[in-house]
Amino acid sequence: MEKIGVVGAGIVGLAVARELATRGAEVTVLEKEHRVAAHQTGHNSGVVHAGIYYPPGSLKARLCREGVALLKEYCARHALPYEEVGKLVVASTGAERPLLRALAERARANGVPGIAELDGLGLREIEPHAVGVGAIHSPHTAIADFPAIARRLALDVAELGGSVRLAHPVKAIRESARGVQVLAARRRFTFDRLVVCAGLGTDAVAAMAGRPGEVRIVPFRGEYYALAGAARDLVRGLIYPVPDPRYPFLGVHLTRRVDGEVLVGPNAVLALAYEGYTWRNVRNVRQIAGWPGTLRMARHHWRTGVKEVYGSLAKRSFLKAARRYVPELGADDLRRTEGGVRAQAVARDGALVDDFAVDVHGRVVLVRNAPSPAATSSLAIARHISGIVPALVR
Ligand SMILES: Cc1cc2nc3c(=O)[nH]c(=O)nc-3n(C[C@H](O)[C@H](O)[C@H](O)COP(=O)(O)OP(=O)(O)OC[C@H]3O[C@@H](n4cnc5c(N)ncnc54)[C@H](O)[C@@H]3O)c2cc1C
Repeated sequence: MEKIGVVGAGIVGLAVARELATRGAEVTVLEKEHRVAAHQTGHNSGVVHAGIYYPPGSLKARLCREGVALLKEYCARHALPYEEVGKLVVASTGAERPLLRALAERARANGVPGIAELDGLGLREIEPHAVGVGAIHSPHTAIADFPAIARRLALDVAELGGSVRLAHPVKAIRESARGVQVLAARRRFTFDRLVVCAGLGTDAVAAMAGRPGEVRIVPFRGEYYALAGAARDLVRGLIYPVPDPRYPFLGVHLTRRVDGEVLVGPNAVLALAYEGYTWRNVRNVRQIAGWPGTLRMARHHWRTGVKEVYGSLAKRSFLKAARRYVPELGADDLRRTEGGVRAQAVARDGALVDDFAVDVHGRVVLVRNAPSPAATSSLAIARHISGIVPALVR
């Protein structure tokens, strides 16, 4: 029986572990925190994306569509929340119409079901408090509880004979002809293969494996406000702006969650620590600023960057972004809530890596880039990883 180690108990690592255990491998997940889903998986918008945005033919486009189907079925089987609340992507000026049109075509090319193009009146039938000159409606875009899905995946791994070892930070990796030795929590593990799904910790683990690679993780903090009290009733489902095509982030949106909260956010602020949940944390500034791609990217996106940093400091700017789509909202309706940090791979030339990226080096498989919609796509990413590494398939 093939022995496989997985670094990281986020939704991607756990989905990979479950898939490999299902295929007969003996799987051990090593997670540095005391709980699963402690980072990106536990700090996101909770949206099961339908596949609207991604270039047709990309991994994101394919694995998102496959992932939605798998996730919907998984949530139904385990009685986990999954609600098709629907999404509106709203154009608020005439200038955004061509982009909206192009987005509708892209969504159809990706096989997103039920896409409808609406005018200003039509969008109010879906979201009575929203305004805009037009919108596309994706009725099957859903919301889910990704941490609950991650916890269920961890149970599956255990039921399939594997183990999820929490409080096991991976500190060293040595690959030889006979296997991969991994040091974690003062214990030495030996695996036939190692799959690294370490999110914000990817670069550190890749360096331990002697595979620094050609891209680096740059952390982008995403801050949120939540709507207070009755203001939540102003939003039925998901209201998104037309995204800036130069940028991989979707812009501040209004998101209903499965617990009834409605979030406003996230913005995207360059963080100076991998786990930079507050701007005061500058722990990894040397590594982050030391990568040539970071400065090149910052130079290229400085206008958006300045706007986003400003957004980070000012509740006013969140309110402005939200009121563009739901003008009834007032300052008292917004209260600050927990944010997240995205792990976004950036190339040496400053290009933001758009697609999911997985590298195979000898016995080590490295997930280099798994930003949104990787939570949506996690079960399909797991199949993809099992499929590209023949030795991982029994
Ligand atoms: C603000 C925000 C909003 C988002 N919104 C959405 C959305 O609505 N829909 C969607 O599909 N996606 C969304 N995403 C993206 C999604 O959350 C991620 O793509 C997904 O969670 C990635 O999962 P992961 O398992 O790769 O990473 P993580 O969940 O970050 O897991 C990586 C794990 O590796 C562990 N680790 C790191 N280093 C080590 C080490 N040395 N030893 C042991 N363990 C280690 C970490 O502790 C962590 O638990 C959003 C992300 C953010 C931040």
